[in-house]
Amino acid sequence: MYLSIAVNMSDNNYDTIVVGGGVAGLTASVYLARSGQRVLLIEKNSECGGLVNTFNRDGFWFDAGVRALLDAGIIFTMLKDLNINLEIVRSPVSLGIENEIINIKDSSSLEDYRSLLKKFYPESSGEIDEVIRIIRKVMKHMDVLYGIENPVFKDLKRDPGFIFKKILPWFPRFLLTVRKINRMNAPVEDYLRTFVRDPSLRDMISQHFFRNTPSFFALSYFSLYLEYFYPKGGVGKLVEALKSKLLEFGGELKTETKITGVFPAEHFVKDGQNGNYKYKNLIWAADLKTLYRIAEIETLSPSIRTTIEETRAKILGNRGGDSVFAIFLEVDEPLESFAKVSHGHFFYTPLKQGLGETHRQELNDLLKNFAHFSKEEILNWLDKFTRLNTYEISIPGLKDPSLAPPGKTGLIISILAEYDLFRQIKEAGWIDEFTADLEDRILKVISDSIYPMLKDKVIARFSFTPLSIESRIGSSEGGITGWEFKESMPVINKLQMADRSVLTPIPSVYQAGQWVYSPAGVPMSILTGKLAADKIMKKRT
Ligand SMILES: Cc1cc2nc3c(=O)[nH]c(=O)nc-3n(C[C@H](O)[C@H](O)[C@H](O)COP(=O)(O)OP(=O)(O)OC[C@H]3O[C@@H](n4cnc5c(N)ncnc54)[C@H](O)[C@@H]3O)c2cc1C
Repeated sequence: MYLSIAVNMSDNNYDTIVVGGGVAGLTASVYLARSGQRVLLIEKNSECGGLVNTFNRDGFWFDAGVRALLDAGIIFTMLKDLNINLEIVRSPVSLGIENEIINIKDSSSLEDYRSLLKKFYPESSGEIDEVIRIIRKVMKHMDVLYGIENPVFKDLKRDPGFIFKKILPWFPRFLLTVRKINRMNAPVEDYLRTFVRDPSLRDMISQHFFRNTPSFFALSYFSLYLEYFYPKGGVGKLVEALKSKLLEFGGELKTETKITGVFPAEHFVKDGQNGNYKYKNLIWAADLKTLYRIAEIETLSPSIRTTIEETRAKILGNRGGDSVFAIFLEVDEPLESFAKVSHGHFFYTPLKQGLGETHRQELNDLLKNFAHFSKEEILNWLDKFTRLNTYEISIPGLKDPSLAPPGKTGLIISILAEYDLFRQIKEAGWIDEFTADLEDRILKVISDSIYPMLKDKVIARFSFTPLSIESRIGSSEGGITGWEFKESMPVINKLQMADRSVLTPIPSVYQAGQWVYSPAGVPMSILTGKLAADKIMKKRT
């Protein structure tokens, strides 16, 4: 599907080289190519997209990474600016606990969510009302945050009306909102603990978020459920469209090329085959730990080296956030059977009990004292983990029926997963057995609860683990949205400072993507790609 564009090896001098062909690197390189720069985008895999990827297996189309997209005032504004027509459909969300499922239509569905929670936790009625009140407040904040087309993608010189009619009236509200949301930075688990007593209820609200997700980010998800959209043909269509634009604007793309050395004093990068590529500016749009590990800074001045060393220590001292385990199923059952249950994007918890504090403690003990746990004890833990968890289920065919063969359905079922557990099991030599066991358990939990039709209808199955994400994408600890949430982050985490997130202490090197701002995802990766390109374009004039 993708082709690698041959690069003229005799002329490896570029205005800008972008490393990493995910959405951040693609965005940066498209804008730089449009501005007339000689740009080379280098990607280690045979296809671009990184964590935004759609692939075909046996006639079924699956999304390997993100399951649907959120605009956030960024994606549509960028598409319009680049004159890209992407055919899209809405990607409605369903939420379910045990046998109760609600299909989210619009903001009035928040009342259905209130009723759903009250059905399971009648004794917590007042606390549920408080949760809903806060979610409604956060939804209003979200309307302000994403209420206008992101100005970073607007040509403000050509559209002064946008400044006067949109930005000026919006900006004071934006600043006020940012101040309010900065006050909701506490981890969602801690925040809920201050007014929700029942741990199961807290789990139902929050256990499908990454550990320590800032409260504002977690509680904004109800707004986001209303916003998800899906490109016809899969999320990978966004990547294809950006790649076409890059080539249309004269940018160059080199795939299957892994950058293994960055030489800032000499302004070149080196690939795994010893190919050298010279740049005036470099945008690193891949894993940041990798950049700081492979940057050769010995020949830079001592003062610059000291600053880089400080940043390097901060970056290498932090971890990627939670990763994900996903099982992909090819099922001999028509889409209609699944459509009767839920929408094509479904957060489902088979048991209202929730994972609970004990589980977290057990997982921590397991990770710390792995060598002392027998295989049986680990599998017992896994049994609980799969029965009590919340699953994100995506059915591409329910969003676009052409994505499954007639009469059949493809499903992606995922849970948040701890990279270190998979790593230690691999080191202990039984990762294939563990993965197969985990697949079996998920399949059993899901077919015993929400999809009994899966019992003997699965034609084929396969899975991605945090380890496979790490090796395919090169992301530290298999992180899928950048850094682990901690009180002090190694990168910018305040919206009003986002502009600075793309700067590095390494001369002429900029950074973009999910590792340069927290919290991150597709829109933020795209935004930082554009911000990095802007910094370089401004530098030229
Ligand atoms: C299951 C799942 C669900 C998600 N859900 C959401 C969601 O609901 N909302 C949301 O906003 N986001 C979501 N995300 C996250 C989102 O997909 C990512 O944050 C985003 O796509 C990151 O884009 P990026 O360009 O920064 O990085 P990546 O996609 O990681 O791209 C980096 C690229 O760099 C390449 N690379 C790495 N090292 C090198 C090297 N040395 N040389 C050359 N190339 C290299 C990689 O191969 C990769 O293509 C989800 C992700 C997953 C996996």
